[in-house]
Amino acid sequence: MSEDLVIPAGGHWSRVVRAGQTLRIVDLEGRQAVDFLCYNAARLEERYNAADTMKIAGSIFLGQGVSLYSGLGNKLFTIVEDTVGYHDTIGGCCSEESNFVRYGVRGTPNCRDNFLKALAPHKLGLRDIVANVNWFMYVPVEGSGAMAIAEGRSKPDDHVDLRAEMDALAVISNCPQVHNPASGFRPTPIRVAVFG
Ligand SMILES: [Zn+2]
Repeated sequence: MSEDLVIPAGGHWSRVVRAGQTLRIVDLEGRQAVDFLCYNAARLEERYNAADTMKIAGSIFLGQGVSLYSGLGNKLFTIVEDTVGYHDTIGGCCSEESNFVRYGVRGTPNCRDNFLKALAPHKLGLRDIVANVNWFMYVPVEGSGAMAIAEGRSKPDDHVDLRAEMDALAVISNCPQVHNPASGFRPTPIRVAVFG
């Protein structure tokens, strides 16, 4: 079944993408972080593993040709098209608590709450949230080890195409963050399409 929709700024989404189908994520206005988790739809305890994905890719950045691996050594998705080249593996998702620790603000909309809402219909919860991918987010690391969320490099209509390598549950939080440059200080809508 195909699908093509716009996720508003700060929104969330999830669905099972069948093996061989492509999930396209379009950064409609540019510089919009898209927090992403994925799971083996037939065995939800098998999920994206950031460390193994980085080790196998030999890079902290995700780009064309790189596969997202589970902790059991299986490919969940492969990036078959990418117009940016810098997608984050280490910055994780924003939360009410980390926003308070970092910025001294309470009650912020955040990606972890979005993940929880998107995971609930699949009977997944807090303990199922692992280090996630951040499409279109740029987190450079210096030789000293210094790292920070930097200004995004994506332009309007940049996109990634992810081919499902198994039936995979994909979960998205369209990051509502306004206290760092993850979403250019102005969260914007994205387009998500599933085809093939
Ligand atoms: Zn976020």
